[in-house]
Amino acid sequence: MRLSQFFMPTLKETPAEAQIASHRLMLRAGMVRQASAGIYSWLPLGFRVLKKIEQIVREEQDAAGAQEILMPTIQSADLWRKSGRYDDYGKEMLRITDRHEREMLFGPTNEELITDIFAQSVKSYKDLPKNLYHIQWKFRDEVRPRFGVMRGREFYMKDAYSFDIDMAAGRVAYNKMFVAYLKTYARMGLKAIPMEADTGPIGGNLSHEFIILADTGESQVFCDREILDFDVLGSGIDYADDVKVAGIVDHFTSLYARTDEKHDAAAFAAKVPEARRYEGRGIEVGHIFFFGTKYSEPLGAVVAGPDGTNVPVQMGSYGIGVSRLVGGIIEASHDENGIIWPEAVAPFKVGLINLKASDAKTTAACDQIHGKLRNAGVEVLHDDRDERAGQKFAEMDLIGLPWQLIVGPRGLENGVVELKNRASGERQELSVDAALTRLAG
Ligand code: ATP
Ligand code: MG
Repeated sequence: MRLSQFFMPTLKETPAEAQIASHRLMLRAGMVRQASAGIYSWLPLGFRVLKKIEQIVREEQDAAGAQEILMPTIQSADLWRKSGRYDDYGKEMLRITDRHEREMLFGPTNEELITDIFAQSVKSYKDLPKNLYHIQWKFRDEVRPRFGVMRGREFYMKDAYSFDIDMAAGRVAYNKMFVAYLKTYARMGLKAIPMEADTGPIGGNLSHEFIILADTGESQVFCDREILDFDVLGSGIDYADDVKVAGIVDHFTSLYARTDEKHDAAAFAAKVPEARRYEGRGIEVGHIFFFGTKYSEPLGAVVAGPDGTNVPVQMGSYGIGVSRLVGGIIEASHDENGIIWPEAVAPFKVGLINLKASDAKTTAACDQIHGKLRNAGVEVLHDDRDERAGQKFAEMDLIGLPWQLIVGPRGLENGVVELKNRASGERQELSVDAALTRLAG
């Protein structure tokens, strides 16, 4: 992609309304624009990151055996009356009346709708287990939408729903999602800490929040460093191996991890040796619940068990804040110059900087490098504009692509280009071919 053609309306000034780094940087980098309070339009740079995060979430859900569907944003109030949540949800729910005076709502979550779909179609334990998910916009009329996409009113969420014949099978489904979440965040370059949580309006009795570490996070975190040291990607988990999956969940849940709300300093000191005590701040990016028959009973999701008697199914629900993660990753990974994208979610892998667009030789070399990288399947943002080098460097640092490839007339005379790693700041001069080999690897 040529930056001269790319729609990336960067801002030089720091927007006054933005209180935290991710909000400031997302506005400055031209990733999003606010449409109204807590509601955002996603511009190309932001949209690319959102889609990368969504795809990692999708791949891990699929790997764990969940199946993707797509439910609507607008729901009928009827099902919510049956579950009792139409009134319970209160002012956070955006209520809509259609032209026939029917009561509708913009879904804040989908337990009722998915349970109804299930109830209409599945009648036997033989069709279990099932786990269905979708990735869809939600609306919650938050009292104080703030921090940009971190606490929006409209936000993008993955929500999965598991259906099982009994509690033991439901627990297996819960464990799979637990491990899938650990892997999902690890793939994004994040350290996620599962914490025992309250179930809130969703209801139920078993629940964990997943908190990523970031100095600016809303919650204070206290945990055993062993949680942070565990290499979930290197552990070679097979989701079909229920025993191993349960072992990982047991390992995590046996280690101390609390937010400030539930932290107990004396317990912390008693349970975790000093060298392993970790204190920091974090952001909630996922929440999983096992709530048994809370929705299956009122909504009639019953199946015939092996002995022929009907039983309500055991359910869980599993949310990941996809749009919140865009801001969360920036909170976890930025410096005074801008964003530092982990490679897996970066909008482009490489920023190619032409230091002198008015020089025909430099421009020809950049065009050639751009073509070669593209052919090798590397995503490149090519700054081909005729602008000052200083401005190009500053913007490239701001948008945080993992690699910068800097090409100028002086270097080319000596047969070299410069490769800069955004995260470490390390710069290296090398031949064009060597740079291409490094970046295509
Ligand atoms: P919070 O306590 O932050 O309000 P929640 O408990 O209401 O979150 P859930 O209902 O569990 O959230 O939703 C699942 C995930 O959706 C959360 O972990 C979070 O990542 C994301 N999420 C929830 N509310 C918002 C919001 N207003 N804006 C952006 N993401 C959100
Ligand atoms: Mg909430």
